[in-house]
Amino acid sequence: MSRLKISEKINMLISIYGRVSSSNQENEGTIETQLSAVYDYASKNGYTIVQKYIDNGWSGDNLARPGLDQLRLDAKKKLWKAVLIYDPDRLARRGAWQEVVIEELQELEIEVLFVTIPQPKTDEEKIMYKMRGVFTEYERMKIKERFRLGKVRKANEGHIIASEAPYGYDFVAKNGKRGDADFHQGYYKINEYESQIVRSIFSWVANDGMSLRCVIRKLQELEIKPRKSKRGVWNTSTLSKLIRNRTYIGEGYYGVSYAVVPTNPIKKEGYKKIKKSSRRSKPKSEWIMIPTPKIIDVKIFSKAAQNLAANFLMSPRNTKNEYLLTGKIWCGCGVRRSGEGPQKGKHLYYRCTGRVKNFPLPPSCFEKGVNARIVDSLVWKGICELMSSPELLNKQIERWYNCRENRKYAPVINYDETKMEISKLKDQESRFLKAYAIGAINVEQLKEYLGPIKEKITNFKNQISKSKSESDSIIEMKLPEKSQIEIFSNKTAEVIKNLNFIVKKAIVRNVIDKVVVVNGELQVYGFIPVTSDVNVFTDYRNGASINRHDVMVYSTSSIPFTLAITLPPPLQRGVDYGFRKAA
Ligand SMILES: [Zn+2]
Repeated sequence: MSRLKISEKINMLISIYGRVSSSNQENEGTIETQLSAVYDYASKNGYTIVQKYIDNGWSGDNLARPGLDQLRLDAKKKLWKAVLIYDPDRLARRGAWQEVVIEELQELEIEVLFVTIPQPKTDEEKIMYKMRGVFTEYERMKIKERFRLGKVRKANEGHIIASEAPYGYDFVAKNGKRGDADFHQGYYKINEYESQIVRSIFSWVANDGMSLRCVIRKLQELEIKPRKSKRGVWNTSTLSKLIRNRTYIGEGYYGVSYAVVPTNPIKKEGYKKIKKSSRRSKPKSEWIMIPTPKIIDVKIFSKAAQNLAANFLMSPRNTKNEYLLTGKIWCGCGVRRSGEGPQKGKHLYYRCTGRVKNFPLPPSCFEKGVNARIVDSLVWKGICELMSSPELLNKQIERWYNCRENRKYAPVINYDETKMEISKLKDQESRFLKAYAIGAINVEQLKEYLGPIKEKITNFKNQISKSKSESDSIIEMKLPEKSQIEIFSNKTAEVIKNLNFIVKKAIVRNVIDKVVVVNGELQVYGFIPVTSDVNVFTDYRNGASINRHDVMVYSTSSIPFTLAITLPPPLQRGVDYGFRKAA
């Protein structure tokens, strides 16, 4: 490590790093309080801050944070000589991880300074410094455990732990301290208006046999809104949780589930604010029952559960149909299409999910569903023909060459403009954060405002990286030799007849990037990996692709292709087109 002389430290250019997790702002303080301590320290020591890196709302359980990543990247550019942080905990929760970052920065001759602890100078101090990390970890575990035990004890005494009551109740917060005359623990009180609605919902399901979607429609007609929702309408998951919530029959529970790292996350790449974002149920024997005021009779409650279970079994949505293009087919409006149709039904459709998502509000897209059997067979036929014909493959190579020439003059997106948009959004974001910091808006409002902004930023960033990777791939892509194509197509022609569904789907996943349904036409985009060995099993496991998010893996020699397939006219009612599945 390079130690700077005192004289050099005056006016030393430094960067600062700050982090607070969203769940723990009460204990950790807001990012502003943390930073003001950092600014004080910097000015007292005569440092000049040239760069700020902030992770607001990020857990320290994970080193993958956008601010910290940027800091580590910039460290290599040597824009500043040191980084100042409030305390090592801000860097990472675990001592070992703190060490990882500190060592990495020190190797780049960048000093890591903390406001709360003096820099270790002697070897002894350095050892103590490292030990400190171990002790804080131990302290934290101890505090966590004490909190947990406190909650368990409270639950065992029959007191409510949660601070937010389920729909139908109000939460009356704890008052005073133990021993005070007017002391009471927090409890649920029946909310007259909401409880009446809960009773109606249960009655509709239990007595009238309504499905959850019917209930949603009914609530919509009656203009009964859920407590919080951006769209102002109920959704099936909220309702199905409500129907199963035993609080309504007087049994509140504590300790039903615990947080885990998701095993099959929807988003694989990118940053995660919280590592344990998924929940797993505990065995019922470990649940702690807390008595609550009853809203629903036990008989009605179990009748509703029975009816819902029966509905689910009979539901046409509970499909086990085979769709070749799952996850690959898109609507012209830019939204995914998904397979839908009755179980073992004649007619299965790929429908725009914009329709489903908006329910019960009017759909945002009016594109018609397309018959899945027809689309599957047309697309399959198309790629089979292409893969087994050297002429067609060579034509695709030619097309790609021409298109590349054009692309040189027309970039896919305008980087500068997109970056401008991002920075505008970031300004908006920081205005809301400031509004929150001075108390002009609350956390809920903040979340509501920031959600769409964050989404837009991610979209723009994706556009940039996608477009960059596209243009990179154009430069890097190696096309197969003519002889290779010949061998490949001959082999494919042999193999591709009489494949079962699983293998077909594996090929589709490997080869097709996207199918877009637009104006009665299917536009198919993809890459045909031309290898000497026609092996299609590598990318397919238990029906789930490893590359869930279309991260295109460009094979060293692959042929990009596009196909345009015209759809036949819509099917007519009452005609059997022979799509019925063989029994
Ligand atoms: Zn659509």
